Amino acid sequence: MAEQIYTIPINEAFEQSGGCPLCRMKKKLERESLDYVMGAAMMDPDVRIRTNRLGFCRRHYDDMLSMKNRLSLALMLESHLDEVSRLFPEDVSALPKMPPPPAEGAPVPPPDLPGDLPEPMQAIPMGPPPRFARFRRYGGPNPAQIALMQSKSCYVCARAADFERNVLSNVAHMWRRESSFRERFKAQEFFCLDHYGRLLHAARHELNDPSFRELYQAMTEINARFIRQLRGDVTGFCRSFDHQNAGKPLTDGQRSCAERSVDFLAGK
Ligand SMILES: [Zn+2]
Ligand SMILES: [Zn+2]
Repeated sequence: MAEQIYTIPINEAFEQSGGCPLCRMKKKLERESLDYVMGAAMMDPDVRIRTNRLGFCRRHYDDMLSMKNRLSLALMLESHLDEVSRLFPEDVSALPKMPPPPAEGAPVPPPDLPGDLPEPMQAIPMGPPPRFARFRRYGGPNPAQIALMQSKSCYVCARAADFERNVLSNVAHMWRRESSFRERFKAQEFFCLDHYGRLLHAARHELNDPSFRELYQAMTEINARFIRQLRGDVTGFCRSFDHQNAGKPLTDGQRSCAERSVDFLAGK
Protein backbone atom coordinates (compact mmCIF):
# COMPACT_ATOMS: atom_id res chain seq x y z
CA MET A 1 0.00 0.00 0.00
CA ALA A 2 1.26 3.44 -0.85
CA GLU A 3 2.65 5.43 2.03
CA GLN A 4 2.00 9.14 2.23
CA ILE A 5 5.50 10.00 3.48
CA TYR A 6 6.89 9.48 -0.02
CA THR A 7 4.41 11.79 -1.73
CA ILE A 8 6.38 14.98 -1.07
CA PRO A 9 9.79 13.82 -2.36
CA ILE A 10 8.10 12.20 -5.36
CA ASN A 11 6.28 15.42 -6.21
CA GLU A 12 9.53 17.36 -5.84
CA ALA A 13 11.39 15.01 -8.16
CA PHE A 14 8.63 15.05 -10.79
CA GLU A 15 8.35 18.84 -10.68
CA GLN A 16 11.83 19.02 -12.21
CA SER A 17 12.65 17.82 -15.68
CA GLY A 18 15.82 16.69 -17.43
CA GLY A 19 16.94 13.09 -17.02
CA CYS A 20 15.16 10.27 -15.21
CA PRO A 21 13.05 11.45 -12.24
CA LEU A 22 13.66 8.22 -10.31
CA CYS A 23 17.43 8.54 -10.78
CA ARG A 24 17.12 12.07 -9.36
CA MET A 25 15.41 10.72 -6.24
CA LYS A 26 17.89 7.90 -5.88
CA LYS A 27 20.89 10.23 -6.19
CA LYS A 28 19.46 12.55 -3.57
CA LEU A 29 18.86 9.73 -1.13
CA GLU A 30 22.34 8.31 -1.73
CA ARG A 31 23.89 11.72 -1.13
CA GLU A 32 21.90 12.16 2.10
CA SER A 33 22.84 8.64 3.26
CA LEU A 34 26.53 9.30 2.62
CA ASP A 35 26.42 12.64 4.45
CA TYR A 36 24.72 10.91 7.35
CA VAL A 37 27.08 7.92 7.61
CA MET A 38 30.08 10.22 7.37
CA GLY A 39 28.62 12.59 9.97
CA ALA A 40 25.91 12.16 12.59
CA ALA A 41 25.67 8.38 12.18
CA MET A 42 28.97 8.01 13.98
CA MET A 43 26.79 8.46 17.10
CA ASP A 44 23.97 6.22 15.90
CA PRO A 45 24.65 2.65 17.06
CA ASP A 46 21.94 1.10 14.83
CA VAL A 47 23.49 2.57 11.70
CA ARG A 48 26.99 1.68 12.86
CA ILE A 49 25.93 -1.95 13.24
CA ARG A 50 24.60 -1.95 9.67
CA THR A 51 27.58 -0.18 8.10
CA ASN A 52 29.98 -2.46 9.99
CA ARG A 53 28.23 -5.48 8.60
CA LEU A 54 27.31 -4.39 5.08
CA GLY A 55 30.22 -2.17 4.11
CA PHE A 56 29.87 -0.26 0.84
CA CYS A 57 30.18 -0.89 -2.89
CA ARG A 58 33.03 0.54 -4.94
CA ARG A 59 30.95 3.45 -6.25
CA HIS A 60 29.96 4.56 -2.76
CA TYR A 61 33.46 4.05 -1.36
CA ASP A 62 34.65 6.32 -4.17
CA ASP A 63 32.09 8.93 -3.10
CA MET A 64 33.36 8.71 0.48
CA LEU A 65 36.97 8.92 -0.63
CA SER A 66 36.14 12.16 -2.40
CA MET A 67 34.47 13.63 0.71
CA LYS A 68 36.44 15.63 3.22
CA ASN A 69 35.99 13.61 6.40
CA ARG A 70 38.74 10.99 6.13
CA LEU A 71 38.67 10.29 9.89
CA SER A 72 34.99 9.24 9.78
CA LEU A 73 35.79 6.92 6.91
CA ALA A 74 38.79 5.43 8.71
CA LEU A 75 36.77 4.84 11.89
CA MET A 76 34.11 3.08 9.87
CA LEU A 77 36.70 0.99 8.04
CA GLU A 78 38.32 0.03 11.34
CA SER A 79 35.18 -1.70 12.61
CA HIS A 80 34.11 -3.00 9.19
CA LEU A 81 37.48 -4.71 8.69
CA ASP A 82 37.01 -6.40 12.08
CA GLU A 83 33.63 -7.76 10.91
CA VAL A 84 35.06 -8.89 7.59
CA SER A 85 37.93 -10.68 9.32
CA ARG A 86 35.39 -12.71 11.31
CA LEU A 87 33.80 -14.06 8.14
CA PHE A 88 36.78 -16.30 7.47
CA PRO A 89 38.35 -19.20 9.36
CA GLU A 90 40.66 -18.02 12.11
CA ASP A 91 43.07 -20.91 11.93
CA VAL A 92 43.73 -22.07 8.39
CA SER A 93 45.96 -24.87 9.64
CA ALA A 94 42.89 -26.50 11.20
CA LEU A 95 40.63 -26.60 8.14
CA PRO A 96 38.30 -29.57 7.89
CA LYS A 97 39.10 -32.37 5.49
CA MET A 98 38.04 -31.41 1.96
CA PRO A 99 36.22 -33.77 -0.38
CA PRO A 100 38.02 -34.51 -3.65
CA PRO A 101 37.51 -32.03 -6.51
CA PRO A 102 35.10 -32.96 -9.29
CA ALA A 103 36.35 -35.26 -12.03
CA GLU A 104 39.20 -33.88 -14.09
CA GLY A 105 38.08 -32.14 -17.25
CA ALA A 106 34.72 -31.12 -15.83
CA PRO A 107 34.08 -27.40 -16.43
CA VAL A 108 34.47 -25.14 -13.39
CA PRO A 109 30.95 -24.20 -12.32
CA PRO A 110 30.23 -20.61 -11.28
CA PRO A 111 30.61 -20.11 -7.52
CA ASP A 112 27.61 -21.08 -5.41
CA LEU A 113 25.81 -17.80 -5.02
CA PRO A 114 22.33 -18.02 -3.56
CA GLY A 115 20.01 -18.79 -6.46
CA ASP A 116 17.95 -15.65 -6.32
CA LEU A 117 20.10 -12.57 -5.86
CA PRO A 118 18.23 -9.87 -7.74
CA GLU A 119 19.69 -7.03 -5.71
CA PRO A 120 23.42 -7.06 -5.11
CA MET A 121 22.71 -5.09 -1.96
CA GLN A 122 20.75 -7.92 -0.35
CA ALA A 123 23.89 -9.97 -0.24
CA ILE A 124 24.90 -9.94 3.41
CA PRO A 125 22.00 -10.44 5.80
CA MET A 126 21.82 -8.45 9.01
CA GLY A 127 21.82 -10.09 12.41
CA PRO A 128 24.39 -12.47 13.80
CA PRO A 129 27.20 -13.46 11.41
CA PRO A 130 25.64 -15.17 8.40
CA ARG A 131 25.15 -18.87 8.76
CA PHE A 132 26.05 -20.12 5.33
CA ALA A 133 25.01 -23.61 4.48
CA ARG A 134 27.82 -26.09 4.91
CA PHE A 135 29.11 -26.68 1.45
CA ARG A 136 30.42 -30.09 0.64
CA ARG A 137 33.29 -28.80 -1.39
CA TYR A 138 34.86 -26.86 1.47
CA GLY A 139 33.96 -29.21 4.31
CA GLY A 140 32.21 -26.25 5.95
CA PRO A 141 31.11 -22.70 5.18
CA ASN A 142 31.89 -21.66 1.63
CA PRO A 143 34.59 -18.96 1.78
CA ALA A 144 34.25 -18.17 -1.94
CA GLN A 145 30.57 -17.41 -1.52
CA ILE A 146 31.18 -15.38 1.63
CA ALA A 147 33.82 -13.23 -0.07
CA LEU A 148 31.69 -12.67 -3.17
CA MET A 149 28.61 -11.76 -1.16
CA GLN A 150 30.56 -9.37 1.02
CA SER A 151 32.10 -7.71 -2.03
CA LYS A 152 28.60 -6.99 -3.39
CA SER A 153 27.17 -5.71 -0.17
CA CYS A 154 26.55 -1.98 0.41
CA TYR A 155 24.75 -0.06 3.14
CA VAL A 156 23.83 2.87 0.87
CA CYS A 157 22.63 0.64 -1.99
CA ALA A 158 20.56 -1.42 0.48
CA ARG A 159 18.95 1.73 1.83
CA ALA A 160 18.30 3.08 -1.67
CA ALA A 161 16.73 -0.25 -2.68
CA ASP A 162 14.32 -0.18 0.32
CA PHE A 163 13.43 3.42 -0.44
CA GLU A 164 12.94 2.69 -4.11
CA ARG A 165 10.56 -0.20 -3.52
CA ASN A 166 8.24 2.10 -1.58
CA VAL A 167 8.67 4.97 -4.01
CA LEU A 168 7.78 2.84 -7.04
CA SER A 169 4.58 1.60 -5.49
CA ASN A 170 3.74 5.15 -4.40
CA VAL A 171 4.35 6.53 -7.90
CA ALA A 172 1.95 3.95 -9.34
CA HIS A 173 -0.77 4.99 -6.90
CA MET A 174 -0.18 8.69 -7.46
CA TRP A 175 -0.52 8.07 -11.17
CA ARG A 176 -3.90 6.42 -10.58
CA ARG A 177 -5.21 9.03 -8.15
CA GLU A 178 -3.94 12.44 -9.28
CA SER A 179 -4.43 13.98 -12.68
CA SER A 180 -1.94 16.78 -11.85
CA PHE A 181 0.70 14.12 -11.13
CA ARG A 182 -0.05 12.42 -14.46
CA GLU A 183 0.69 15.71 -16.21
CA ARG A 184 4.04 16.08 -14.43
CA PHE A 185 4.81 12.44 -15.17
CA LYS A 186 4.17 12.91 -18.89
CA ALA A 187 6.48 15.95 -18.96
CA GLN A 188 9.55 13.85 -17.98
CA GLU A 189 12.45 13.64 -20.39
CA PHE A 190 12.89 9.85 -20.06
CA PHE A 191 12.87 6.92 -17.67
CA CYS A 192 16.23 5.15 -17.66
CA LEU A 193 16.03 1.48 -18.66
CA ASP A 194 16.41 0.30 -15.08
CA HIS A 195 13.63 2.54 -13.75
CA TYR A 196 11.42 1.92 -16.76
CA GLY A 197 11.61 -1.79 -15.94
CA ARG A 198 11.21 -1.40 -12.21
CA LEU A 199 8.33 1.04 -12.36
CA LEU A 200 6.51 -1.00 -14.98
CA HIS A 201 6.97 -4.13 -12.87
CA ALA A 202 5.70 -2.39 -9.71
CA ALA A 203 2.75 -0.83 -11.54
CA ARG A 204 1.79 -4.20 -13.07
CA HIS A 205 1.39 -5.52 -9.52
CA GLU A 206 -0.34 -2.45 -8.11
CA LEU A 207 -2.69 -1.19 -10.82
CA ASN A 208 -5.61 -2.55 -12.77
CA ASP A 209 -6.51 -1.70 -16.32
CA PRO A 210 -6.96 0.97 -17.56
CA SER A 211 -4.59 2.78 -15.15
CA PHE A 212 -1.77 0.36 -15.85
CA ARG A 213 -2.30 0.50 -19.62
CA GLU A 214 -2.19 4.32 -19.58
CA LEU A 215 0.98 4.41 -17.49
CA TYR A 216 2.62 1.81 -19.73
CA GLN A 217 1.68 3.82 -22.83
CA ALA A 218 2.86 7.11 -21.35
CA MET A 219 6.27 5.77 -20.26
CA THR A 220 6.81 3.97 -23.53
CA GLU A 221 5.91 7.04 -25.60
CA ILE A 222 8.22 9.24 -23.51
CA ASN A 223 11.11 6.83 -24.02
CA ALA A 224 10.42 6.25 -27.72
CA ARG A 225 10.47 10.01 -28.31
CA PHE A 226 13.65 10.38 -26.29
CA ILE A 227 15.46 7.53 -28.09
CA ARG A 228 14.53 9.01 -31.49
CA GLN A 229 15.88 12.40 -30.52
CA LEU A 230 18.98 10.95 -28.86
CA ARG A 231 19.69 8.77 -31.88
CA GLY A 232 19.54 11.86 -34.09
CA ASP A 233 21.94 13.71 -31.80
CA VAL A 234 24.39 10.78 -31.75
CA THR A 235 24.33 10.59 -35.54
CA GLY A 236 24.81 14.38 -35.76
CA PHE A 237 27.79 14.09 -33.41
CA CYS A 238 29.36 11.28 -35.46
CA ARG A 239 28.78 13.17 -38.74
CA SER A 240 30.45 16.27 -37.28
CA PHE A 241 33.75 14.44 -37.71
CA ASP A 242 33.15 14.17 -41.49
CA HIS A 243 35.39 16.32 -43.62
CA GLN A 244 32.51 18.35 -45.13
CA ASN A 245 31.22 19.30 -41.65
CA ALA A 246 34.52 20.74 -40.43
CA GLY A 247 33.98 23.94 -38.44
CA LYS A 248 30.22 23.44 -38.12
CA PRO A 249 29.24 24.01 -34.46
CA LEU A 250 27.60 21.19 -32.49
CA THR A 251 24.13 21.65 -31.01
CA ASP A 252 23.74 21.33 -27.20
CA GLY A 253 22.04 17.97 -27.74
CA GLN A 254 24.90 16.67 -29.88
CA ARG A 255 27.49 17.85 -27.36
CA SER A 256 25.88 15.96 -24.47
CA CYS A 257 24.63 12.94 -26.45
CA ALA A 258 27.11 10.44 -24.99
CA GLU A 259 26.38 11.45 -21.37
CA ARG A 260 22.62 11.39 -21.97
CA SER A 261 22.85 8.01 -23.69
CA VAL A 262 24.73 6.52 -20.74
CA ASP A 263 22.28 8.05 -18.24
CA PHE A 264 19.42 6.48 -20.18
CA LEU A 265 21.05 3.10 -20.74
CA ALA A 266 22.72 2.57 -17.37
CA GLY A 267 20.98 5.00 -15.00
CA LYS A 268 22.68 7.82 -13.20
ZN1 LIG B 1 16.53 6.13 -13.58
ZN1 LIG C 1 26.49 1.11 -3.04
